[in-house]
Amino acid sequence: MSFAKRLDQIIKRIEKARLSYNRHHIVQLIAVSKYATSQQVRALYTCGQRAFGENKVQDLQSKSSALESLPLEWHMLGSLQHNKINKLLALKPFLFHALDSLQLAQAIEARSTDTLNALLQVNISKEHTKSGVIPEQALEIYTRINQTCPHIRLKGMMVIGPTPPATPSFSHAQALERAFAQAKDIFDTLPNASILSMGMSADFECAIAYGANMVRIGQALFAN
Ligand SMILES: *Cc1c(COP(=O)(O)O)cnc(C)c1O
Repeated sequence: MSFAKRLDQIIKRIEKARLSYNRHHIVQLIAVSKYATSQQVRALYTCGQRAFGENKVQDLQSKSSALESLPLEWHMLGSLQHNKINKLLALKPFLFHALDSLQLAQAIEARSTDTLNALLQVNISKEHTKSGVIPEQALEIYTRINQTCPHIRLKGMMVIGPTPPATPSFSHAQALERAFAQAKDIFDTLPNASILSMGMSADFECAIAYGANMVRIGQALFAN
């Protein structure tokens, strides 16, 4: 299938999900290019896509520099090690989705001269393999970052849905809904939060049904 066709199908699905949530609700699509080459990113850009996301600083650096001439909006989605902070800041990402602790925020603050737009990552399903602050502390940490890190501009939150079992199951569908509903409730308590980054290839329609307004889609756009 061509990129144009895949993108078109995803956009149609997003459109349908957003209209059934609320016709005034706008959802932004981030094309996650971690499985893609720079040429494939360029091909998707030609179809009209502008926002792309990577989960490693190194990949963000190489793709954004290879495609420097295009007006792309780059999102950093993955966990950030402290020794990569300077490198990320130098790339001036449009939005960093994985601010996952107060310690990381303060380490970024100490190295910042410009402002960094960021989302607080919340570990909504409390899975040990996932990063993020625990849901019970989200508001407190969000507030602390706002108070102590003037170079970080918090725009909202990011969550990753619970990992699906190998075979589809009803209880997973319920777990997803519960997680996304809880994420929306927390999001609504955060002061001045406007972005709820929630939903990937396997679960974005459910995420939109619970109020996601930014979805991060990789496989459904780029996998063979
Ligand atoms: C890879 C990744 C995605 C995209 O996942 P797909 O299943 O490929 O759509 C979204 N968010 C994060 C943080 C990722 O690492």
